[in-house]
Amino acid sequence: MYKTILVPIDMAHVAAGKANVHLAARYGAEGAKIILLNVVEDIPNWAAIDLPAGLLEKSVESTQAELKAIAEASGMHMDVAVRTGHSYDTILDVAKEKKADLIIIASHRPGLQDYFLGSTAAKVVRHANCSVLVVR
Ligand code: ADP
Repeated sequence: MYKTILVPIDMAHVAAGKANVHLAARYGAEGAKIILLNVVEDIPNWAAIDLPAGLLEKSVESTQAELKAIAEASGMHMDVAVRTGHSYDTILDVAKEKKADLIIIASHRPGLQDYFLGSTAAKVVRHANCSVLVVR
């Protein structure tokens, strides 16, 4: 049983994320802290010039609302976090910051069953300091 579980969720594939949220509820010790995390990829400066102002902020806000809805639907208390940056670096940073003892991550996006691990999952598995449950 784990005390602090980080569940990184790709908002483009929420169904897989929700399944991992259920797993987190089962793997957590009594009183465990469960954190749902999405990383919104930074918009490079050269691209941001042509985009409406405040797009990144709006994306962070709507993602936060989506994660809160997933947490509420689980029927358990869960924290939500939305960060901007590169997905795998940020997942590893948050895991360290929150002292996670387990990360639950999907192996890859749906439909890519031939790949052993997706790019984010592979880097998280390789570099995490804690246990990682890779869900296929
Ligand atoms: P693929 O390379 O097939 O897209 P990934 O390794 O990127 O696969 O994704 C696998 C899992 O990594 C996702 O289901 C999710 O758990 C996590 N993940 C990927 N991108 C993000 C992100 N931006 N924020 C949070 N978690 C992510």
